[in-house]
Amino acid sequence: MVQTAHTKIALVVNEGHALHHVHDRGYVESPARIPAILRGISQTGLFSRVEPRHFSDRTVKGVHDSRFVTYLKRTCAAVEPGSSIYPYRPPRDLSLRAGYYAIDTFTPLDGNAYRAARGAVDCALTAARSLLQGYRLAYALVRPPGHHAERRAFGGFCYLNSTAIAAHYLSAQGRVAVLDVDYHHGNGTQEIFYERSDVLTVSLHGHPRFAYPYFTGFADERGRGDGDGYNLNLPLPEKITEDEYRHTLARALRRLKRFDPKFIVVAFGLDPAKDDPTGSWSLQAKDFEANGRTIGSLHVPTLVVQEGGYRVRSLGTNARHFFLGLWQGFHGRRPITEGIQAR
Ligand SMILES: [Zn+2]
Repeated sequence: MVQTAHTKIALVVNEGHALHHVHDRGYVESPARIPAILRGISQTGLFSRVEPRHFSDRTVKGVHDSRFVTYLKRTCAAVEPGSSIYPYRPPRDLSLRAGYYAIDTFTPLDGNAYRAARGAVDCALTAARSLLQGYRLAYALVRPPGHHAERRAFGGFCYLNSTAIAAHYLSAQGRVAVLDVDYHHGNGTQEIFYERSDVLTVSLHGHPRFAYPYFTGFADERGRGDGDGYNLNLPLPEKITEDEYRHTLARALRRLKRFDPKFIVVAFGLDPAKDDPTGSWSLQAKDFEANGRTIGSLHVPTLVVQEGGYRVRSLGTNARHFFLGLWQGFHGRRPITEGIQAR
């Protein structure tokens, strides 16, 4: 059977991502991540490339504080080529003030960070828009990631929260559930939607006792005001079995089902994978495929936005298996893949 255009997964890639390259040792959020994933998924035949279009700053400021966006844009533009600004906390130099707008001290501002992050936002929004145009599944393959960026703070390799901006955009059409499966708690997305009941936020992650971002991601953070009961954190131990992971994901999906969203946005981290330098779990390709399948089997139009995942060698294989599973779960049949088969 020939797959029609809209049974394919809309794929929007942040081509400008490589502008942003922090050379410091240990800065594992590297440009090599994107081609590694692209190589992994390109031969499945499941994807249809969609060119990113530009969305206005108004859409970004629906989520982020306007002064924060201006600060990022101006500061990145003013940094000398080849140098970068690291935040201090508390801010020592008021003219830089990076500490005022940052959640940690290891994510730098440099000449290209804002442009690359803004490109990622456009890709996430373009992919979200493709769901309004008939696609049922869409993937924004972007970096830098976004889920640690709060309304008015950057950090954790993140500058602008593409996932939250896309979820906010889709929320104009109906209820949206954000499912964050990155190894690290999506503190930014939680903070942005903490008082809203029309956007449910659910996150499975390493317990903040030992995992970044340390200060958020606890089970008792449930939302506030109208949002009370619309944030679910499922912190997990440092070592877990596949069964424990699967049961926790099933619990997350039961909450999603009860919420009955019109759209799901998956904050897609590949850092729960075996040997990821920032994680402690051991998910393998077959686990990512199973995760994709259960998410797809909810049959809700789904936008997947790339977040973390730093073991470049296995990114492509794990991403491929996730999307094979997602497609299969959604359509209830095995995809007809072109070229290489899933291994
Ligand atoms: Zn992560």
